[in-house]
Amino acid sequence: MTDKLGKIKDTVDDARSGRLIFISHCLLNQNACVRGLASQPAAIRELIDLLLDNDVAIYQMPCPEVTYYGSMRWGQVKKQYASPMFRKHCRNIAEQLCDQVQTYRDNDHEVIGFVMRDGSPTCGLLRSAVEADENEVWGGMVWNASPLQRFGETKGVFTEELQAEVERRGMKDILFLSLPEVPEAGSFPDRLAEIKKVITKKSQQQLANV
Ligand code: SF4
Repeated sequence: MTDKLGKIKDTVDDARSGRLIFISHCLLNQNACVRGLASQPAAIRELIDLLLDNDVAIYQMPCPEVTYYGSMRWGQVKKQYASPMFRKHCRNIAEQLCDQVQTYRDNDHEVIGFVMRDGSPTCGLLRSAVEADENEVWGGMVWNASPLQRFGETKGVFTEELQAEVERRGMKDILFLSLPEVPEAGSFPDRLAEIKKVITKKSQQQLANV
């Protein structure tokens, strides 16, 4: 604390870029991944570097799985996460996130979109973990089970709820992007290039508007 009183600055201008993007929790905190799935020690550095290099601020979304099941959870497939209770949990997160998107947009910030995680039964955008054999029974004691999964062309449960909320609010220009968790769920370089294209295009548009 100082004894100084009065105006600190005579302008509302500051250093902010006014641009931000919402990203899946584990892109910035690899410790949230199901054990065995973290591909980097702390964060997905290529994405974080790309965003910071382009002055895009990062909003880390809560991890729907850790906030529901905790950090010591088993890997599961979409049909196990698709319960009404987990969907409600995801809807609550989606509503809070969309409130955040709205308040930034209402106050002259550019929210570019959401970066999801392909492969996740919760956050997948292009592909999500589903059961390899639909007739196989999932559930019961895990030490008795050896089920096989595959990556199906379907969205994760949280992505479905988030997209529904975005649509409900008519936020048509919000982009949904993604990076895969594992190579089997998509091409990391291709998806990163897509994000780069979007960010760079928007940067150029901004320069043109100055
Ligand atoms: S993909 Fe989604 S649910 Fe899975 S760890 Fe990342 S944030 Fe959590």
